[in-house]
Amino acid sequence: MIDIETYNCLIKALTALKLSYIRENLDDYLKLAEAKNLSHLEVLFGLMQKELKERKQKRIQKRLKAAGFPQQKSLEAFDFNFQTSVKKQKLINLAEGRWIETKTNIIFLGPPGTGKTHLSIALGIEAIKRGYKVYFIPVQELVDRFYTSLATGEIKKLFKKLLSYDCIILDEIGYLPLDKKAANYLFQLISKCYERKSLIVSSNKGFEQWGEIFSDGIIATAILDRLLHHSEIFLLRGESYRMKGKMEKGGGEN
Ligand code: ADP
Ligand code: MG
Repeated sequence: MIDIETYNCLIKALTALKLSYIRENLDDYLKLAEAKNLSHLEVLFGLMQKELKERKQKRIQKRLKAAGFPQQKSLEAFDFNFQTSVKKQKLINLAEGRWIETKTNIIFLGPPGTGKTHLSIALGIEAIKRGYKVYFIPVQELVDRFYTSLATGEIKKLFKKLLSYDCIILDEIGYLPLDKKAANYLFQLISKCYERKSLIVSSNKGFEQWGEIFSDGIIATAILDRLLHHSEIFLLRGESYRMKGKMEKGGGEN
């Protein structure tokens, strides 16, 4: 029999300690403990395990939201029979997340619709599930953020935020050319990440065209130098998945 005063104090203590799973499931667990004749140790262990599991789930949900993915994409949903330039097993191995530990960068190059963003998001989600912090941002949006934070004097804050992640996904380098100032800030970010963070970068332009993207060959070379030193490069080929089946139908409507 539990006396009500002790019970109330326990609930207060659990609240103060932020053990919310235990607090909310205490009654059921006590009943279960009685029914199954569990020892004190088993009860305490069981509750703690559940609390930890629950916290992990919540942390993953929070990080998935904070990552800013435009959609949720998974490796399971990727059709490796359609995109044969990447090996499924290689991606499955990468999904284990060691590349983040070794501060390796992953680069997806290829024409539109070949799965660059899909695979970037899928690897990002896998990394979050393994406890890493990931941030997804299209390069054009990052450039806008550079300019707004320059105007408000918050550029340092922006860098601090970006560098608080284990992995930054820079999506779509090269869709639009960058001016010198933007290229410079992007270079600064990539330099700061060099051997400290991991980047996933996608681009529809081959490295030889990066001079045009940054309107400056020297900056492009410096960026590539940092980016490629520890990297895995994937060259995606073939048709756009968005157009799959549409051309034969005489469509091509989007
Ligand atoms: P990219 O970034 O290379 O332009 P995306 O990754 O955005 O291309 O792919 C375009 C759309 O097609 C997305 O909805 C994506 O999920 C889907 N897609 C691309 N390749 C595949 C694939 N091999 N299997 C399944 N879906 C794919
Ligand atoms: Mg894309």
